[in-house]
Amino acid sequence: MEQKEFSEFAKSMVEYIGQYLENIRDRRVLPTVEPGYLRPCLPETAPEDPDKWQDVMADIERVIMPGVTHWHSPRFHAYFPTANSYPAIVADMLSDAIACIGFSWIASPACTELEVVMLDWLGKMLGLPNEFLACSGGKAGGVIQGTASEATLVALLGAKARAVRKAKEQHPDWTDAVINSKLIAYASEQAHSSVERAGLLGGVTFRNLKVDSHYRLHGDTVDEAIKKDLKEGLIPFYVVATLGTTSVCSFDLVTEIGPVCRKHDLWLHIDAAYAGSAFICPEYRYLMEGVELADSFNFNPHKWMLVTFDCSAMWLKDPTDVIDAFNVDPLYLKHEQQGSAPDYRHWQIPLGRRFRSLKLWFVMRLYGVKNLQAHIRKQIGFAHQFEAYVNEDERFELVGDVLMGLVCFRLKGSNELNEKLLKRINGNGKIHLVPSKIDGLYFLRLAICSRYTESTDIEFSWTEIKSLANDVLVEEK
Ligand code: PLP
Repeated sequence: MEQKEFSEFAKSMVEYIGQYLENIRDRRVLPTVEPGYLRPCLPETAPEDPDKWQDVMADIERVIMPGVTHWHSPRFHAYFPTANSYPAIVADMLSDAIACIGFSWIASPACTELEVVMLDWLGKMLGLPNEFLACSGGKAGGVIQGTASEATLVALLGAKARAVRKAKEQHPDWTDAVINSKLIAYASEQAHSSVERAGLLGGVTFRNLKVDSHYRLHGDTVDEAIKKDLKEGLIPFYVVATLGTTSVCSFDLVTEIGPVCRKHDLWLHIDAAYAGSAFICPEYRYLMEGVELADSFNFNPHKWMLVTFDCSAMWLKDPTDVIDAFNVDPLYLKHEQQGSAPDYRHWQIPLGRRFRSLKLWFVMRLYGVKNLQAHIRKQIGFAHQFEAYVNEDERFELVGDVLMGLVCFRLKGSNELNEKLLKRINGNGKIHLVPSKIDGLYFLRLAICSRYTESTDIEFSWTEIKSLANDVLVEEK
């Protein structure tokens, strides 16, 4: 494809994207296709001669859109949001054009240096303590990981390297195998499944600790678990505190957990994958109090801060253990400036990395902090609007506290009744929700996901839920 044709194709795509997003509300949020729908829409093999781009464009509506779940529709309330904005889309175009693989400083200096500065900008926006930021002049700094799951695993591997080193100093006769079998990590039973998975991948045991009636993990629970394990000769080494759990968006008490980790010298990682974006608003920072006691902190601008996937921001106060854990340095990756700027390949699991800081830069500049804050506040406001509807209808009850853009609720009554309601809602396809279950209690989660959401959309979703609840309750009688 030559540049002239590229321009026409890209303009046509930009127009299509604009129309798609601005009119997304009109599409059925959940597709109706059956598994295997797509294969019959396509030829058996790739074309021998090139197709025309106009034909490819035409096939988007024919082949792709029938099987798309519209995550950016105001009718989409499942999971947590994934972000999207025009500045981020344009930044990704540039990233794809530069198409560098920024594994070391010399592999593309701008890729590394913009990331260092953007993670400082972002850390300051969140009110992270200076000890996390590269501009503090120490070893600290931020890095963009692909996902929160990777950040949890990277922190775990750094913590593990630190724990193994310490154990060897104290017990020179212990082998790696002996030490590894003694390592214990901790998180709340409400932590995301990726936390347990990090334990599986890192080859260590995780303890899932009990939470209180607001689904929060307390410091004394962590302390008791650590003491019990120490008594048994085990090596507690890593704690994950979650700020904004996936099921109900509860917040572990870092002010309590942090001092326990310091007392026993454990690595504290904070997983704020979804809710971390809210800390750009000073009024929500009370929920991350104690963050200065953590070793690493992570959140996903690609969830709630208008930056498209993938962009998971992670800060490390001291990346030395992570760097040492991953440091394999063949001659072909060495360069003369080594040590003067981060070589991010040592801060992550893959070697390759895209120029993801461009989309952070574009989004922060083209929205400005004020508009990003306004976005968060507006969405939390919509959650409270929905919360009020639930509170006003005595057939329903809330589950957990509404602190961010997630409302957990259920019809008073059996799990089966609520399962039936959800099946009706998703079957009708006007809105889309997913459920969760805690201690045997099944409930529905309504997340505010789209940047296009308006108050009337919340009204629409509530009307749909209420109407289907009426049907289900009548049938029950
Ligand atoms: N942690 C929490 C609290 C989450 O809610 C999620 C996903 O929703 C994750 C981790 C995993 O995020 P990612 O897909 O970026 O790995």
